[in-house]
Amino acid sequence: MLSNSLIELDRAHWVHPVASYRGHEKAGVRVLRSAKGATVTDATGRQLIDGFAGLWCVNAGYGHDSIVEAAANQMRELPYATGYFGLGSEPAIRLAAALAERAPGDLDHVYFTLGGSDAIDSTVRFIRYYQQARGKPQKDQFISIEQGYHGSSTVGAGLTALPVFHAGFGVPYDWQHKIPSHYTYRNPAGSEPAAVIAASLAALRAKVDALGGPERVAAFYCEPIQGSGGVLVPPPGWIKAMRDLCRELDILFVADEVITGFGRTGPLFACEDEGIIPDLMTTAKGLTAGYVPMGAVLMSSNVYNVIADGAGAATIGHGYTYSAHPVSAAVGLEVLRLYEGGLLDNGRKAGRRLMEGLRSLADHPLVGEVRGRGMLAAVELVIDKARKTPLPAASLPAQRIFDRAWNNGLIIRAFGNGVLGFAPPLCCTEAEIDAIVERTRATLDETL
Ligand code: PLP
Repeated sequence: MLSNSLIELDRAHWVHPVASYRGHEKAGVRVLRSAKGATVTDATGRQLIDGFAGLWCVNAGYGHDSIVEAAANQMRELPYATGYFGLGSEPAIRLAAALAERAPGDLDHVYFTLGGSDAIDSTVRFIRYYQQARGKPQKDQFISIEQGYHGSSTVGAGLTALPVFHAGFGVPYDWQHKIPSHYTYRNPAGSEPAAVIAASLAALRAKVDALGGPERVAAFYCEPIQGSGGVLVPPPGWIKAMRDLCRELDILFVADEVITGFGRTGPLFACEDEGIIPDLMTTAKGLTAGYVPMGAVLMSSNVYNVIADGAGAATIGHGYTYSAHPVSAAVGLEVLRLYEGGLLDNGRKAGRRLMEGLRSLADHPLVGEVRGRGMLAAVELVIDKARKTPLPAASLPAQRIFDRAWNNGLIIRAFGNGVLGFAPPLCCTEAEIDAIVERTRATLDETL
């Protein structure tokens, strides 16, 4: 049994991330106690399939002893080593090399962070440094996409385009700009891939022009699939077209693979789906499968060399106490071994079954669209399919759908805009995928 005192302690002391503080105080916390594979158990003994892999991060699934051993061994051997003073640790060096070897093209230089938000922050600092180092300090404007999410640090929250991360926080800054999302289901240009791509290209060109031309613009950020905006999947060819335009305009292209990396969409990195090579790539979450915190920025040789040559012998003042933490790096290496030892393959198979299963919900009266790729999917709910009328947030709060799914033994993400998000661990069995679909159907039926 969950003791009331734990709920009271939480209520009194823990300020939860991305929460209505007063709403949370009223509802009280649900405490998770243990987990194995794709199943989590709460403190009351209730078992649930984790259809969201924690926060789209536990890609390997829970309870891998080999990951625990990798962390414990590293803690016994060398629990901490800094990368300052020219020092380092073996797992950090090996993980940097392993990522460079597997990342697209010449993304050969790896800067480790603690998670996704500081990976995004780091790209902004590196990009400013890069543009200055090549004698173009006036290239200082940054562009990202509506519905995009790039973390909630002070700088990243301004590249993020979800209003809840802006209101009351004084962001975005005046150098942070947005273009409309591809959001195919609701794109004013229609849902034809060519039209969606043309609209995004035109929007980026127009934004660059409005900012004074390419000589003012430093970088363009996008997620290969927009996650927190509601799992918005661009049409095939979109990311390649945007990458090519950035190259033409001499604007750095940043692929934020914090969610899409490490098998979430099928390959190790979603950029591989269209064979594109970004100038910088951000990763986190699946890098350590959520077992310990870590993120990484991968830089192209060009970006790295311009920064390194620009600085010459001077110190480049960017780093954290916990950059390249050896325990996280050891976990990262083991997780990578598990991905390549079968988890990626299983995730691809399970992903096909997940998409097939969720598509079978398309005839449900509440389902406007089912979309996704691999083990990353969404069901968008509407009250009028023909008009695509969104669910009124006030009459059907996301929390209520989350609660119904919970009562059906399933954890999914219920976004405020009536979108249900799915990102199960790659280890899911066929039976677990089928259960996710069936429990979702039951949840929708109760929501009617
Ligand atoms: N970028 C993307 C695309 C994300 O989805 C997230 C987190 O969900 C972040 C950045 C921020 O990562 P973190 O929460 O590890 O700071």
